[in-house]
Amino acid sequence: MAQPAVMLGLRLPDVDRWSERVIVALGQNPGAFTGPGTNTYLVGTGRERLLLDTGQGLPAYLPVLERALDLAGGVRLREIVLTHSHPDHLGGVRGIRERHGPLRVSKRPLPALDAAIGCEVEAIDDGAVIEVEGATLRAVHTPGHAEDHLCFVLEEERAIFSGDNVLGVGTTVIPAQGGDLGLYLRSLERLLAEAPGVIYPAHGPRIADGVAKLREYLDHRRERERQILAALEAGIERVPEMVREIYAAYPEALHAAAAGSVASHLRKLLREGRVVQRDAEDPLLARWTLR
Ligand SMILES: [Zn+2]
Repeated sequence: MAQPAVMLGLRLPDVDRWSERVIVALGQNPGAFTGPGTNTYLVGTGRERLLLDTGQGLPAYLPVLERALDLAGGVRLREIVLTHSHPDHLGGVRGIRERHGPLRVSKRPLPALDAAIGCEVEAIDDGAVIEVEGATLRAVHTPGHAEDHLCFVLEEERAIFSGDNVLGVGTTVIPAQGGDLGLYLRSLERLLAEAPGVIYPAHGPRIADGVAKLREYLDHRRERERQILAALEAGIERVPEMVREIYAAYPEALHAAAAGSVASHLRKLLREGRVVQRDAEDPLLARWTLR
């Protein structure tokens, strides 16, 4: 799930080889929140490959996955690994297992949402290492966009599969349900500490300079926080007015998404004890002041 707008109009090939051991197959679910669609990745170099994420479960995806397996040299699937429990990442599990057999599915458990996967889940967590011929994936727990979110370091390339934490287009949404901007920023710092080269995101094209992109993401959020604090300082108390002030240069169609982003910053500041929320529990309706 990503921020809309910037993502519209971007087209990527359905199937593409992004490295010796990484082939991308597009989830066939383009939209405001998924950009060109969810990237699913065939990982490895041998006769059996790992599949990272599964798209939304649209029928059009299965033939695309078929073509990816052909491009890899007529290989088979060995297992499925999921970055997190959002529908555009786990929705394809059922159809893939019907077509390709009862493959093992691994992720960091989140029982409330994992039921939608429709099969048993092998629990993995921070530090777990998953090996497939030609590729070693190391899980990094990166909550913030979703509490169960794992990124995966591809050790052979010092690359990172970033899931929804870093995107090839747009910026990551921090949802009111399960999202946490403070944790998200810490997760970005953790990824930065891995000093990645390439980043393979769950949406949009491959990112060539992972470190530069992570710095850009962190700077962007810090700048936004600075602007929100300045708005509060100027006595602006409500989110819609903050949005009008901070996003004055952006089309109004974006303001709803912007309000969600401002709300995620205010929830972070509230947890840090730096602001006071009054009148309403919904951050979009509340009055906000500096403490
Ligand atoms: Zn997501």
